[in-house]
Order: sequence, then C-alpha cells, then structure tokens
Amino acid sequence: MKKKYLQKQSKFNEQLDINVGLGLPQEKYDENEQCQSCKLTLKQDDRYIPILISTFAKQNRYDTMPMELQNLLNAETLNLFNVSSCKHQFHFKCLANSFKTKLHQEYPSWLISNCPICQQSCNLLYPNSQLEVHFNLFIQELEAILIELNLDLQLSLKYEGREELILFDIFYQLLINILIQMIQQKVDFQRSGKVQIFQQFIRILKHHYKNINYKQNILKFKKGQIFILDIMMLIENQVMSVINKNDFEQEISKILLSLPKQNDDLVKILFTCFEIKFNDELFYGEQNEISSMCITDFYQTQKEISNQIAILLGKNFETFRHRYIKNLCKKCGFFATKQKQGQDIAVCLLCLKTLCLGSCKNYKIGNLSIHAEEEHNCHSVYVCLSSGNVVITSYPMSYVNCFSLFYNNLGQEINQLTYTNLDWDKYNLDMEKVEQISKIILYNQYQQIIRNALNDQNRNRQNVRRNL
Ligand SMILES: [Zn+2]
Ligand SMILES: [Zn+2]
Ligand SMILES: [Zn+2]
Ligand SMILES: [Zn+2]
Repeated sequence: MKKKYLQKQSKFNEQLDINVGLGLPQEKYDENEQCQSCKLTLKQDDRYIPILISTFAKQNRYDTMPMELQNLLNAETLNLFNVSSCKHQFHFKCLANSFKTKLHQEYPSWLISNCPICQQSCNLLYPNSQLEVHFNLFIQELEAILIELNLDLQLSLKYEGREELILFDIFYQLLINILIQMIQQKVDFQRSGKVQIFQQFIRILKHHYKNINYKQNILKFKKGQIFILDIMMLIENQVMSVINKNDFEQEISKILLSLPKQNDDLVKILFTCFEIKFNDELFYGEQNEISSMCITDFYQTQKEISNQIAILLGKNFETFRHRYIKNLCKKCGFFATKQKQGQDIAVCLLCLKTLCLGSCKNYKIGNLSIHAEEEHNCHSVYVCLSSGNVVITSYPMSYVNCFSLFYNNLGQEINQLTYTNLDWDKYNLDMEKVEQISKIILYNQYQQIIRNALNDQNRNRQNVRRNL
C-alpha cells in the first residue's frame, strides 16, 4: 500500500507541475468572484476548489443511513465514498503553492493539504471550469485516488476488469453521497459548496461518457423505491443519452414535486443542483400524488448512534472496563499483555474488538492502523481501557488523547489508573462526548479531526502519531 501511495503522491505532484505549465487561455472575467488567497479576480477557466474524497468507514454496529437505503446501496456496493468540500475557490497556482511548501513524502496528502482559508482537508483540486483539458486531468486524478484509497483491486473485480466502467461507478457513488449529505445536513449543504460540486460532477461525467460510450446501465435499482435513487437512474440515462435534456428535466421535476410537502427546501436545492428553473406555481399548486419515497428518519440517526454507543460502553468507567478487560487482543491472542508495562488496550468502537495499543510484537505498524485499514476502510475510533480516552485513526495516522469519555462529578478525567483508586464507578459516561463520536461516525469526520489536531499549534500536535 505504501508503494502505491507514493505512486499516487508523485502523481499529485506531477499534476501540480502540469497545470502550472499549462499556459491557460484568457477568457472573460467574472467580476464578482475573487481568489480567496491572492484576492484577485478568478477567471472562468482558472478556479479550483479543494475537495477531499475518502472512503466511508465500514461498520456494522450503527445504522448511518435509513435501513431501506442502506440495504439497497449495500446490495450494489455503492456506499464507499465520502466527499468533503468547502466553498472557497482559488487560482490553480495559489492553491498549488500553498501545498507545495508543505509537501512531505512521509504524510498522506489528506493530512498535509488543505484549504488555506478554512483548513478543510483535501486530496484533490477540483476544477470549477468548463475546459475539457481540466476534466481530463481531474479524471486522471480520480483514478489515482482509487489507488491511494486501495480500492482499485476491489473495483476492478466488481467490473471483471472492465476498467472503463470503474470511473462511472465512482462518479455515481460520489453523487449518491452528495445527495445523502443534502438530506443529512441541509443547512451545511449549500455552505460547503456542494451544489457547485454536484453540477460539475455531472458535467465531467457527461464529458467522460463521450469517450467511453457504454451501453448497459450500471445502476440497477428498481424504480420508485427512494427518490434519490430514482434521480440517480435518471442521471445515468441522461449521461447515456437515453433521454434528452427536456425529458430529463420533466422527469426530475415529477419526482421532486411528488415528495411530501415538508421537503420544500430540499426540493429547491435540488432544482438548483440540476439547474432547472424552480416554478413556484407548479410546486404550490395541486399536490401531486406521493409516489416517491422520501427519507425523513435521517434526522433520528445521530441520536440513535449516540444511544447505541452509550449502551455498548456502559454507564460508567467501571462497567466499561469490566466489560472489555476480559477480552483477548485480536492480534496477539493474549489479554492485557501490555498493561503491566504501563501500556494500553484499545476497544474499537466500530466492531468492539480489543487490541493492544501499538503493536503486540515488534511490528513496524501498530494494531490500530492495521485494524482500521483491514476492517473499516481505513478509519476507526477507539477507546482506551486505562483511561477512557478516545483515539481516532485514519490509516496510517492516529490522534491519541482526543478527549476522555468518563468524568466524575467534579468534571475530572481519570488521571492515572492505579489499584488504589478504585472508585471507577464515580466516573460517568459523558453524553456530550458520546455525541461527538456519533457525529464522527455519521459524517465520516476522522481525517478532518486528525488534520485539525495536527494544525493545532499547542497541545494536540504531539498527539498525532503515525502507524500506532
Ligand atoms: Zn489567486
Ligand atoms: Zn475553505
Ligand atoms: Zn496484542
Ligand atoms: Zn473494529
């Protein structure tokens, strides 16, 4: 994986060089927008948004999506990716320069590259222009990302070597992820520039189709199940030119207008995403028959995850420790082998397996990184048995001592575990901290949190470790 990773990173560097030397043609100015870095005007053909494409942590303890949707996506293995972004746009050079000074072979690109303004972690420069040469470069980069995420083999198995279809799969997955985020985080959705990202994904997708021309649908959902999947199938049909622009717009409107009334705001955002003019009259006129299913129980999801975590951990530190201390380390098969030497055991909150913190023997890479990589698409969150402290891991980085989950009624954490202070039952599970964890799981925030810790000039920096 390391080798592949380096490959990808040198590609990332190459892209920086290619683009800088491209000698972009002059085009008309959009006077309203400026580069967030140099404050000069952004040209139509030179505007980039930093985005982060990552895998969604695989876990079976928590339902991060309504069951029906989860089942459908799992059946088609279509919920692998997560897209994060911010609204800031830059000249290519301005953004690339801000990375170049920091490029460091040892660290993954998501850790060292970020939006210079808001620190949003990123691993791709997303061209917000209409130039085909930019589309092609982006497509190349997306392929490289697959290698970085170690998904190239898995996807090429899925398509039995028909490599040309893999990119469509990724695009559709990214679009599905964006639509899900729209429902989950309505307020944040527009603020994080997702509408533009969505529109641009569709443009690039259409552009790519011109070169590939596949004949068979990749998305195989049954119509009329969940509206975002119906929309996705329409997108695919439009990409494949099965339906024309007019029919497409009509069909989309039909789906959107058939949603229950309380989804007004979602519907309006979606009209913008598809650049279809929103017609108030149509919308507030006769209520169409509700045919497409809308998902409302997303709102409940975070609460449910929190409750689930609270049940799994137990109400105080005594219960938590008692519950997991007897488990054997999944790697070495012993239990508490390291505790005598003052080292720690960690419980994976995504699957509840226990592991020695660090490596059991003299391996170079520790258990937490390996476990996250092998079982959870590279990310996980752990709780230590000696302190109730949380560790966030995104292969190969870990952020230790994020915060403690247990506090006594003076608000103190467990300082040091000795056998003379046995009042562990006085340290209660803090639900606010549990909610923080449920957010991390629901919104796949592992990388962003590690990044923020590394950026923190003071306390946190030394807590970010490699290969733990
Ligand atoms: Zn600039
Ligand atoms: Zn930003
Ligand atoms: Zn072990
Ligand atoms: Zn696990």
